[in-house]
Amino acid sequence: MAETSCKACRDDYKVTDAQMERLLKTSMFAPERRVSEAEYQDRLEHCRSCPKLRDGVTCTACGCIIPVIAWLKERSCPLPGGGLWSAVKASE
Ligand code: SF4
Repeated sequence: MAETSCKACRDDYKVTDAQMERLLKTSMFAPERRVSEAEYQDRLEHCRSCPKLRDGVTCTACGCIIPVIAWLKERSCPLPGGGLWSAVKASE
């Protein structure tokens, strides 16, 4: 693969479970910013069947670490036409 400026897109770069766990403990992922467990699992289900998902972790459409960012209410699938899953309103 050609060298890109995106570290996560390199073949030799793998995000570890420990790194993901560390991210999930930051204030960015405070409980009020997260979707429910059911919503999270539903999002993962869509991603698992999507050809854009690489190594079960990285979305090649947006470069995001899906098992991490799928927790966030404000995030949505970047595919055109509304994507395969949507953001959740902050009050929900
Ligand atoms: S966020 Fe959307 S485009 Fe990315 S892997 Fe998931 S379903 Fe596919």
